[in-house]
Amino acid sequence: MNKVLVLGAGQLARMMELAGTPLNLDVKALDVSSNKVVQPISPEHVYGDLKTGIANADVITAEFEHVAHNILNECEQSGKLFPTSEAIKIGGDRRLEKALLESCNAANAKHHFVNSKEEFTAAISKLSLPIIFKSALEGYDGKGQWRLKSMAEAENIWQDMADFLAASTTTVKQAIVAEQMVPFDREVSLVGVRRVNGDVAVYPLTENHHTDGILSVSVAAPINSVIQEQAATVFKALSDELNYVGIMAIEFFQVGNQLLVNEIAPRVHNSGHWTQQGADTCQFENHLRAICDLPLGSTALIRPTAMINIIGEDSIPNEVLEIPSATVHWYNKSKRTGRKMGHINVCGENELALAQNLKSLADILCPTTFPDLADFAQSYLNKQS
Ligand code: AMP
Repeated sequence: MNKVLVLGAGQLARMMELAGTPLNLDVKALDVSSNKVVQPISPEHVYGDLKTGIANADVITAEFEHVAHNILNECEQSGKLFPTSEAIKIGGDRRLEKALLESCNAANAKHHFVNSKEEFTAAISKLSLPIIFKSALEGYDGKGQWRLKSMAEAENIWQDMADFLAASTTTVKQAIVAEQMVPFDREVSLVGVRRVNGDVAVYPLTENHHTDGILSVSVAAPINSVIQEQAATVFKALSDELNYVGIMAIEFFQVGNQLLVNEIAPRVHNSGHWTQQGADTCQFENHLRAICDLPLGSTALIRPTAMINIIGEDSIPNEVLEIPSATVHWYNKSKRTGRKMGHINVCGENELALAQNLKSLADILCPTTFPDLADFAQSYLNKQS
């Protein structure tokens, strides 16, 4: 069980290779757009295509949930795919995701499915403004979303959504999910891992901040145990129901002391990148351990840690490396606006030290590339002092 094929050859496959190498795990990736098996770090073409990739692998996993269903089905038939294609597909279709949440009694925002103008009108009458509309398929990082705040906007939004549905070329039929906007206090996520034998381990909840719909900062620090247990219970219920194997992330809205599930990601997740420096075992290694049926590593927080995404930029000042416990991870990608290019993990021996290090980082980094970081670092520092 030491040859792993990852469907998708982006940064998540790259970080799996980095984490798997010390365990002698041989991680290759399928670049789904060229149908070539590549070495994720380099990323050189090493051999063949999907068929040879499947034949050469002991286990297969995915780094994204929008993998074409024919590829997933072919991998599943080999008996090597973890998690199952069902779990991966659920992460890529909000209708299936909502059905899973309902079947596990996992609290989530009130919602209705919309395929027509009549269903759009019915959804508005059953929910109250503001309402968020999300495409069922192919929605990520806030894409394919509309927000209805007043009835005066309804006609325009419907026209836009109707055009979007008509232009859809997905093989599975596209639809819209109308969801009640939740007045949340904060957004958090839980990254957890489940092994074939049902063993489960979860990381501490992470607080997430978004800029223009894209995750910009995640912070992992000691957490209120009531909320942590609530999240862990949801993780156990969902992962048991799916007979899940590997890392799964659950994004939540926190309202007071209650968590509502926003969405699930059947894979290693951006909000878990802090585990590389802040946890006993990082999410990438634990994912590999789970799918290779090895004992899970401890998910304990070793020190408060924040992760800052580097978006649309391929260089940062070298002074960042002078900050104690700041670690830079580049993904070796060509620069493009809005693209996740790398991330910085920064730690502190306690939350005050973390806040001070975050402030130093914000003072060095360019505010155009990191627009909300200075405010975030200052308010985090204020909370600790
Ligand atoms: P999503 O793609 O579902 O993660 O949505 C992107 C972002 O939109 C989330 O991180 C939230 O900030 C916001 N959002 C999504 N759904 C809701 C909701 N039901 N209520 C309030 N905010 C939401």
